Amino acid sequence: MPTLPELRDKLRRPLELERLRGFENRAVSGGLGKLLEGPLAGPFPQVREVLRGYDDLSIPEREQALEEALGMLQDSPPRAVSVPRVARQDVPTLAPSGETLLPGTALARLDWGHGGLKKLTGLGLQTLRDLLHNYPRRHEDRRALPSIAEIEDGARATVSGVIVSKTRRSPRPGMQILDAVLQTASGERVKATWFNQPWVEKNLREGAKLILTGRVKRFGRSAQLGVEHMELLDGGGAGSSLSTGRIVGVYDSKEGVSQDFLRKAAQTALSRFDMGDYLPAHWRKQCDLTDLADALQGIHFPHDEAHLARADHRLRFDEYLFLELRMLLQGEDAVLLGKRFTATDRDMQDFEAGLPFRFTGAQRRVLHEIADDMRSERQMARLVQGDVGSGKTAVAACALYLAVRDGYQGALMAPTEILARQHYVNMQNYLAPLGVRVGLLIGALTPKQKAEMQATIAAGLIDVVVGTQALIQENVSWANLGLAVVDEEHRFGVAQRRKLLAGRPDVLVMSATPIPRSLALTAYGDLELSIIDELPPGRTPVDTKLLQDTHRTQAYGFVMTQIREGRQAFVVTALIEESETLELLAATQLADDLRVILPEARIDLLHGKMAAAEKDAIMERFRAGEFDILVSTTVIEVGVDVPNASVMVIENAERFGLSQLHQLRGRVGRGSAKSYCVLVAGEHSQKTRKRLKIIEGSTDGFVIAEADLKLRGPGELRGTRQSGIPDLKLGDLVSDVAIIEAARDLAKHILAHDPVLKHPRLSGLREELQARSNQVAYREVI
Ligand code: ADP
Ligand code: MG
Repeated sequence: MPTLPELRDKLRRPLELERLRGFENRAVSGGLGKLLEGPLAGPFPQVREVLRGYDDLSIPEREQALEEALGMLQDSPPRAVSVPRVARQDVPTLAPSGETLLPGTALARLDWGHGGLKKLTGLGLQTLRDLLHNYPRRHEDRRALPSIAEIEDGARATVSGVIVSKTRRSPRPGMQILDAVLQTASGERVKATWFNQPWVEKNLREGAKLILTGRVKRFGRSAQLGVEHMELLDGGGAGSSLSTGRIVGVYDSKEGVSQDFLRKAAQTALSRFDMGDYLPAHWRKQCDLTDLADALQGIHFPHDEAHLARADHRLRFDEYLFLELRMLLQGEDAVLLGKRFTATDRDMQDFEAGLPFRFTGAQRRVLHEIADDMRSERQMARLVQGDVGSGKTAVAACALYLAVRDGYQGALMAPTEILARQHYVNMQNYLAPLGVRVGLLIGALTPKQKAEMQATIAAGLIDVVVGTQALIQENVSWANLGLAVVDEEHRFGVAQRRKLLAGRPDVLVMSATPIPRSLALTAYGDLELSIIDELPPGRTPVDTKLLQDTHRTQAYGFVMTQIREGRQAFVVTALIEESETLELLAATQLADDLRVILPEARIDLLHGKMAAAEKDAIMERFRAGEFDILVSTTVIEVGVDVPNASVMVIENAERFGLSQLHQLRGRVGRGSAKSYCVLVAGEHSQKTRKRLKIIEGSTDGFVIAEADLKLRGPGELRGTRQSGIPDLKLGDLVSDVAIIEAARDLAKHILAHDPVLKHPRLSGLREELQARSNQVAYREVI
């Protein structure tokens, strides 16, 4: 006589097989119904009840029933699970298996049906956690789809229905229009139209069920919908109830992966597992955050706006929390002991006395912040941010002087050789008269020169060394490195910075990238921030004009008048590698064209594919005034100083980010002459025009960066990605200041009590942090 557990096992096995085979009722010959009538199911009347009529159910219904039945056949009663706050009828939830979802729980733990797993991994998702943290890009309110008769002309609307007919037409060559008539559940008809998207056609079988979003055009009583978003529903059951009649999330996807499928996938994962929560309850309470299950449910399947809002708030908070944790943990060294300098006011005065100018108020303030750090025994980790030409380099030179006065060595690291050479010349000018010995170490030196320089550094016979990555790559051993200045931080990885930190000098980072304060706090969570928000007196702002490319000749006519006055010009175009695919004007082509248009001018070319030495040589010749126009790709973006250049033309300006345009423009207006920048824009939208107008109207990098961020709608993550913060999917740096600060406080609080997150209670937090870091690394690679 078999025992009850044995019987349970026996019944469970075919049911599990049925799940594995995708609920197609093929696991048991004759169908599952037959099995249930048999003696095996006899002792389990509840299971029989749940699976009643199985053979006639749709696949999603079968899935739901089977999961419930399997839940009943567990060895031990399921562990208590947190019941999601969502109403039962809201989402057809299946009985959770009671297992807590771990960051590493593989997608393959659930059965995704034919090809399903591949679809998910194809979207870069590896684990169930990844799937659930793959939030919808936007949400659509489909609670009550409007009656077509009620939709106003020009309004955006979502309708759902079945295709009753379709036609294709081509009113003129190169234009393809696809029309389909959609009939809604209430029998209304609307004509849906796709322009130039022939690939859509294969999805438009007659009888296919669609959800369409687009703009409505009325013609008397009939209506036409210009389709912007289309969803194909696989059939009845769970799918369509996740996609209609509610607030629906719309995911980033790709060809062959339907919205319906992604919703079902998220819903399945949510219903099978207990979400747990990596954030202990008392901190959630303290920060007024909902629990993770409610948040994930709410971001994927909100039952109302309030639910979505609290989900968004929690998940957004988490993004910043983990970002801050990561920063603080990485910056761990930064709170360690560093150098202690005397950094006297007297030394600063001596430095300033040797300058041909007086420091601005902003420079003076920042210099005092730096000197305070240098005097403290804590290791300095400070970011000096200031617009191009605001005088950061002069400030850095003074800090280096303070270090040298105390008998330490200083390093100044630049992202390119051109810049390193330029800094070297500047440092010579600032420091050599004060008796400071300045050296240069770059990759272009001969092996013999390098060896000599390294020996000199090691022997302490040189005080300040200017260089590129070579300074950290080539095993430089310092006699006594006290201060390291890093120019244009964003070109260096955090790892590189830490490498440089190994000898634990004080560290000063300079950046001209105008980052709004709210963003800087997060992007550089491990650095204290000093801002030089004032330009030296006497600078006239660069006069900027936006031109349509059809008026390009005007721009070059103006360039010619400047050249006749003895000035020089930069002409910038996009990267050569991309020019082919993006149909941008290649720099070479442009240079050739200009030689024809402006036969009087001497023109030369600089691009990223040239060897460093070649670039340097061209820059030197341009600086020496040996030719008039430098046509270049964006390699000149950072730092190059040619005071005589008074005009810059930027071709295809619409292709550049505002901050990049601003950086580029900073290359002119560095001398005393009035300077100009002409933005030549090709085909572009109203929105782009609005963005470019910002550059035309302002020369303040911070104002530009804020405006740029504000112009991007929420969910447009291009901006944050550009700023090198791939951690943020929901975060909107401009509006999130309060959340950022709260998350930062909590991160600090957590680490103050447990600096390496080793308490068992925080193991979930640690694992989630790891998972997020891995994802960031992964996304940086792709
Ligand atoms: P940044 O590094 O921020 O681009 P620099 O330190 O290179 O700025 O300064 C840009 C130019 O302005 C340099 O030619 C420098 O000599 C000059 N400069 C710096 N500070 C002042 C100041 N307080 N008054 C006048 N000119 C200054
Ligand atoms: Mg500079």
